[in-house]
Amino acid sequence: MSPTVVNTVGAMRQFVAERRRAGATVGLAPTMGALHEGHLSLVDRARSECDTVVVSVFVNPTQFGPGEDYARYPRDLANDARLLGERGADVVFAPDVDAMYPPGDETRIDVGSVANVWEGEQRPGHFAGVATVVAKLLAAVPADRAYFGRKDYQQTVVVRRLVRDLLLPVEIVVCPIVRDTDGLALSSRNAYLSVEERQQGIAVPRSLESVERLIAEGEADVATLRAAGLAAFADTPSVEPEYLAFLTDGEVRPVETISGPTVVAVAARVGSIRLIDNLRVTPPAR
Ligand code: AMP
Repeated sequence: MSPTVVNTVGAMRQFVAERRRAGATVGLAPTMGALHEGHLSLVDRARSECDTVVVSVFVNPTQFGPGEDYARYPRDLANDARLLGERGADVVFAPDVDAMYPPGDETRIDVGSVANVWEGEQRPGHFAGVATVVAKLLAAVPADRAYFGRKDYQQTVVVRRLVRDLLLPVEIVVCPIVRDTDGLALSSRNAYLSVEERQQGIAVPRSLESVERLIAEGEADVATLRAAGLAAFADTPSVEPEYLAFLTDGEVRPVETISGPTVVAVAARVGSIRLIDNLRVTPPAR
């Protein structure tokens, strides 16, 4: 069945209020559309845990920097709504920019230190845009649970911090990364890659896999692991690594030795496209 498409904040709030008054739990999966199986995995999870599932489709201008791909970001609401209908979503919230950013809007949310490193350093202002739109989406769709992908690891840290610091009454659920058969994490931006770039993009998950292998063999020194991970890019000249970070799981704080659950996060540039990926690793039991 086709989901209902709602465009205004008022209508969205009214729908959620009615569902909640009827005793239903509400799940929200925020997306920027151009949906693929990664997004749809969030919808499936929400469907299995909530009575009512709302998916927002909104290309958020404030999380794009100058010179980034806001204008050409892929948009296909009709196809997104069709896919969401197949997966049993109840409502698509697809506001226009003025509905989310009323004329004269100036408020931005600064979540502090977790927003300024790694992705935040490469994309200044990005996480202020993310935090601001997530707060607005939760104001429009006051859900019991909100679903995010681990693919955007630092975003999950930022969103958890936002929810904790602003005392927002929502449970954040983080879902596993969905990958293509060759290991590349699904992303709406993969559509920009040429055939050759797409093939070379495999260096991104390969670098994480090589690090994971060494950790399983007992290597714990991050300098050694980083060198090995970066070596995976030696044969793919069109893929240039930006960072390979080793972070305490759940945080963005770097570690020098692998002594507990660690997130290995990578960003690489393929022409003007950035690919990000990550893997959670644990040292072998002694
Ligand atoms: P986006 O439309 O890129 O803003 O993504 C919307 C949500 O889908 C975010 O929470 C992403 O982390 C999640 N997502 C995107 N790609 C994937 C993927 N390959 N696997 C799991 N979740 C994903």
